Formats: sequence, C-alpha cells, structure tokens
Amino acid sequence: CGIVGVLGTHEVSPLIVEALKRLEYRGYDSAGIATVNSGRLDRRRAVGKLVNLSDLLVHDPLPGKSGIGHTRWATHGAATVVNAHPHKAGPVAVVHNGIIENFRELREDLAASGYVQESQTDTETVALLLQRAMANGASPADAARSTLKLLHGAFALLFLFDGEDDLLIAARKGSPLAIGWGDGEMYVGSDAIALAPMTDRITYLDEGDWAVITRAGATIFDAQDRPASRPEARIQLDA
Ligand code: GLU
Repeated sequence: CGIVGVLGTHEVSPLIVEALKRLEYRGYDSAGIATVNSGRLDRRRAVGKLVNLSDLLVHDPLPGKSGIGHTRWATHGAATVVNAHPHKAGPVAVVHNGIIENFRELREDLAASGYVQESQTDTETVALLLQRAMANGASPADAARSTLKLLHGAFALLFLFDGEDDLLIAARKGSPLAIGWGDGEMYVGSDAIALAPMTDRITYLDEGDWAVITRAGATIFDAQDRPASRPEARIQLDA
C-alpha cells in the first residue's frame, strides 16, 4: 500500500521507517524493509503496526545505505510474515502496490521451470520472474524490462538487487510513483509526502514509465522503452 526507496549516504533503515510512517494514514496490515549492505541483500518483515518492525530492527538491525520499504494492504494472501513485502527471490527484492492480475498463469509457468513461490502473493511472482531472467544472463535493467512486459494489472514496483549498492529500478502502471532528488542521494515514494522530510524536488513517473535510479540520478523510460524526460517540480509539503 505504501512504497519507499532510498539510495543514501547514511544508514537508510531509520529513514525508510520514518517515510513509511508518513504513509500510515493509508492503512496497512504488515511492513518490511530490505537493504543492500556491502553488496549483500537482506530483509526484515513484521505483521501489524510499524512499531513491530521498528522493534524487530532494534533487536536485529538491518544496516545498509541502499534500501526499500513497504506497508502492505493484503489483496492476495493473508497478512502473515511470509506474505509481507519485500519479496526476495535469488538476487532481487521487490515491493509492490496494487495487483498483478495474471499472476496465476505466470506462477504456473514459473513453477514448470522450477521457480516455486513460498508465499500466496501476486508480488512474489514478479520477484521470481526477475530471478529467472537474471539466471538466464539478463542484467538487472534487462530483467526488469522483460518482466514488466509480462505483467497485467495495476502496480507500482520497486526492485533492489544483491551485489548492487547503487541501483534501484522503479515502475508504475495505474499506481502513482514519485522520484525524489537529493544531494548525492535519490529517493522513491508512492506518495511525495513520504519523501517530504528528505527532499522537495520531485519527478512523477508517467503511466507506463520505468526508471533506473542511481545516486547520480534517474534514467526514465516510457512504456515503449524509449528514454523519456519528465519534469522536476518543487513540491511544498509540510515536512
Ligand atoms: N497485491 C499485493 C499483496 O497483496 C500488494 C498489496 C499492496 O498494495 O499493499 O501483497
């Protein structure tokens, strides 16, 4: 229900929890964070209020300067830790708002090639599609491009990759997503209000856009994979 991503210069877990708090008003049943730390992708997830995730992070910290976070409003699969985002498959972690309508067909196809889900969600299907593409030799960006073509439905998606400390890939179709520009940092949020404490420089992705984001900036592509330029706006939000 809420998505946040940060490529930071400091530890990102506290920033991501703060940003997720700003999306609490939308409602949610569970929450989670993934980071890449010294190249290693890891995650923490908790059912219930964000304070449960914060408590977990106190006892079992999640270091790293690159990360993604999610508050979930379950549509497919009960509100359990296994169904909470981020979903991880091999080298990729995924957070998702919305619904992948054709996930059952995709899930069957994946299972036939040995990629079996552990959750009941439509989101893990996306993670497995990326894992399979990368196992077949695709780069993260190529895996994202080919996977996005397979998805029907409404979604905002954010991908984080093992071994990639300076990479986020974001996509939007039917669900809003905003890129925030910082000073040597970059942010992504399902709502600009989540990013208000970090930046007021916002670029909204257009319908069908996807973006490759590093600390140096964002390269945005349209639904036909053509490089696209989207305006940057100054958003005055109450931080
Ligand atoms: N359909 C996904 C799920 O049920 C995402 C729901 C959401 O937008 O939070 O896990």
